[in-house]
Amino acid sequence: MPGARAETGSDPSAAAGVPLSTYQQSVADYWNTERNAVNLRLGEVDGIYHHHYGIGAADFSVLEAPEEVREERIAEELHRLESAQADLLLEHLGRIAPEGRLLDSGCGRGGGSLLAHQRFGCAVDGISISRSQVAFAGEQAERRGVGGQVRFHLRNMLDTGFETGSFDGIWNNESTMYVELSLLFAEYQRLLRRGGRYVCITGCYNDAYGLPSRAVSEINAHYICDIHPRSTYFREMAAHRLVPVGVVDLTAATIPYWELRAQTHLATGIEEKFLSAYRDGSFQYLLIAADRV
Ligand code: SAH
Repeated sequence: MPGARAETGSDPSAAAGVPLSTYQQSVADYWNTERNAVNLRLGEVDGIYHHHYGIGAADFSVLEAPEEVREERIAEELHRLESAQADLLLEHLGRIAPEGRLLDSGCGRGGGSLLAHQRFGCAVDGISISRSQVAFAGEQAERRGVGGQVRFHLRNMLDTGFETGSFDGIWNNESTMYVELSLLFAEYQRLLRRGGRYVCITGCYNDAYGLPSRAVSEINAHYICDIHPRSTYFREMAAHRLVPVGVVDLTAATIPYWELRAQTHLATGIEEKFLSAYRDGSFQYLLIAADRV
């Protein structure tokens, strides 16, 4: 009964009708207490907070900047690369009318939702199972005066409670590794109107390499996630009326970001695992865009 679900809107203090598994609760706990400088300091650059990685050529000269401005230059450069990643994802949503509606599934602190609204002028709903992220993201939207159009909700992406066929586009930016794709895409098959667009950017393990490498397993342990093989994305999309329209292998494009980040004060310790997984071919950074048919 859909009406039984508590609507939280941008008010995470409201009782949330979010049924979470024990695993999902542990993921929520991780994000509720996450305060990494690499996320917070970069978000302060322009008020757009990302929890994903960057792409494109990196300007390594920031490492040699005068000491008094070096940390600032580094933050700006890493943030620029992360914003370029978000822009590429949004570009693949295609044309979205101002009357349209988008879902930012696994929205983190909400940076992507705000950028989507800026780009398309449409309504955006962001969802996360982290109460503190939903609160933070809602404050950012209010601060920018777009709280009526960009709304954040404490919800489970596997069981969102939104109306059938109510979205023109849905994206996951580095959040599909927290869920089973068969369940996720069943929900998107329901939520997307026919002709709607789905886009994800994700790390996946490479079937052509074999099973997860040591580095991929270490990344899983670090983030409490379950990186899927590339094949599962296409199998589950095909099973849920999502037909790929574009696939971009971003592996080479993300390596400079990691090389730069590894040499900065903002490194978290996971950088070498990503670099070795990308370099040995066991791990790929993919963008997949698909149409709901
Ligand atoms: N897409 C964001 C954040 C990525 S971090 C960005 O690009 O910045 C992963 C996010 O997925 C976190 O916000 C986490 O709370 C969310 N998440 C994980 N499992 C989820 C679930 N079952 N339902 C909703 N959100 C989930």
